[in-house]
Amino acid sequence: MKMKRRLVRRAFTLVELLVVIAIIGILIGLLMPALSGVMATSRLNECQSNLRELARMTVAWSDDHNERLLPFGNTTNNWDWTLAREAAGYTKTPDTYVGDDPPGVFYCGESDVLVSLARLCGFGMNDYVKTNATPSYRRLSDIRAHSSVVIFGDSKLTALGPASFDPRHRGKVNFAYFDGHAETLKSNEVRTVVSTFPWRDPN
Ligand SMILES: [Zn+2]
Repeated sequence: MKMKRRLVRRAFTLVELLVVIAIIGILIGLLMPALSGVMATSRLNECQSNLRELARMTVAWSDDHNERLLPFGNTTNNWDWTLAREAAGYTKTPDTYVGDDPPGVFYCGESDVLVSLARLCGFGMNDYVKTNATPSYRRLSDIRAHSSVVIFGDSKLTALGPASFDPRHRGKVNFAYFDGHAETLKSNEVRTVVSTFPWRDPN
C-alpha cells in the first residue's frame, strides 16, 4: 500500500501536463515576435552589407577604367548589370542567375522581386547618375560629393529615384554611396538623400 501511494504522488496528472503545455505555448508566443524582429534585423544588416560591397566594387571598376562610371544602355534601358556583376567579381552570365542559383550580393532578403533575366537585382541604381546622357562617359571625379551621392538602394525598380525607393525593412530603406559607405534611413528621410543632380558641374 505504501509503495502504491508513493507511485501515485510521483506521476503527473493530466491537469499538470496541460498546464505545462499551456505555459510552453505562452512562452513560444512571447518569443516569436522577438525572434522575427531578430531575423528582420539580420536581413537589414545583410542587405546593407551587400549594398556596401556592390558600391565598393562598382567604384573599384571605375578605378580600373580610368575613373569612368559604369555604363548603362542595355535593352531594358537600365544600368548594365552584367558590368555591375563583373565589377563585383562575378563572371557568370545572366542566365546562371535564373533558377536556384543564389543571387549573392545582388539581392535583398526582404525583396519580393523575382530574379530573372529581366530583373537580376533586388536593388535599384541611382537614376540620376546614368552615363548614357550627354556628356557621355561621366567619371568618378564628376560626382559632386562621394559621401552623399547614392549609387544603390532598396528599390523595386532598377532605376532608383526620390520616389522609387522601397522601405521594405519595416519602413526603412538601405542605401550605399560613392564613398563605399551604406546607411539605413526612414522613408521620410529619403527625399533629401537621393539627389536629382549628383554632378559637380552645373550642366
Ligand atoms: Zn534591403
